[in-house]
Amino acid sequence: KCGSTQNMAANIKVVVRVRPLNDRELQQNSRVVVDVVDDKMLVFDPKEEIRPFFYQGVQQPNKNFLKRANKELKFVFDNVCGQSATNNDVFETTTKDILTALMEGYNCSVFVYGATGAGKTFTMIGNAEHPGITYLTMEHLFYTINSYEKEREFDIGVSYIEVYNENVYDLLKPSNTPLQLREDAKYGVMVAGLTLNNIKTARELLNMLENGNKNRTQHPTDANAESSRSHAVFQVYVKMRYKTSSQLRLVKLSMIDLAGSERASATGCVGERFKEGANINKSLLSLGNCINKLADGSSYIPYRDSKLTRLLKDSLGGNCKTVMIANVSPAHISYEDTYNTLKYAARANKI
Ligand code: ADP
Ligand code: MG
Repeated sequence: KCGSTQNMAANIKVVVRVRPLNDRELQQNSRVVVDVVDDKMLVFDPKEEIRPFFYQGVQQPNKNFLKRANKELKFVFDNVCGQSATNNDVFETTTKDILTALMEGYNCSVFVYGATGAGKTFTMIGNAEHPGITYLTMEHLFYTINSYEKEREFDIGVSYIEVYNENVYDLLKPSNTPLQLREDAKYGVMVAGLTLNNIKTARELLNMLENGNKNRTQHPTDANAESSRSHAVFQVYVKMRYKTSSQLRLVKLSMIDLAGSERASATGCVGERFKEGANINKSLLSLGNCINKLADGSSYIPYRDSKLTRLLKDSLGGNCKTVMIANVSPAHISYEDTYNTLKYAARANKI
């Protein structure tokens, strides 16, 4: 039963993905503040060698160069994916294993966490050339259920919703009316009025995800022209009927592209935008709180504190498998965001 705390250690996996520098960061010759040591360790804000610094061909004095002491902080995670890691590499180290657990009857959840621009949506959705882990996971799910077909019958339904300003909306059937959450004795937490889409192949999925993603609420802010302030939640409901016993079992896989973790104040938000920020922090904060409480072995987990944690109540906890993928940029300009994300991930990793 989810919500219990036994074996929590084995049930959460924390992976950090460092994206490559983008063109702008490359052009600016941006300092890299994340050094991936191996597939489990990285150093944040590593010590730099003193290298001659040229400007227009003339060597510049180094006097201000090393004024601030580098933090040189070592972090160890279940996995670290460096700049050259592909979405497929990330899939191999994150969600591939949890499909085995799903088939055994565990609810599973996968989160991508990080600041806007750190690579969350690229990891989760990707594009036609580099399909993200949602597509790769679904492809593998279809492959997996084929191998079980002699013993079980399957019925797969998917939904794609967003939590925005503590309201729930269907991304596949856009509407201004928020959907309500309900708790069902048999099926667990349900979104009332949400239609489950039957899909038969992973191919059908990519378009659906890309379209759904376009429906995510977007608001220009000072810092980001296209900032994602919503949490996108992709859920797969797998109904399996065992042919010999006719026993019916329902499991859920949730994949969540979390809103940007940067603080609202950093983007100069006021008024309505600020409220969005506060609500995003509320959901992110209560997700962090729930994970901490689970880790501490508390008997009371504050799932009811936010929409996101209420929605994931039956997919987050002792007997559920959780993967947290923390996305970071290696560029110096994202120093604070990267540091905060690594600290958040390290806290989850302690579990
Ligand atoms: P987020 O969803 O966290 O705001 P995005 O996934 O939209 O960030 O990534 C920001 C930009 O960086 C996008 O243009 C994306 O295509 C690119 N990007 C992110 N991660 C990678 C990666 N691993 N390899 C190549 N490009 C990436
Ligand atoms: Mg995004």
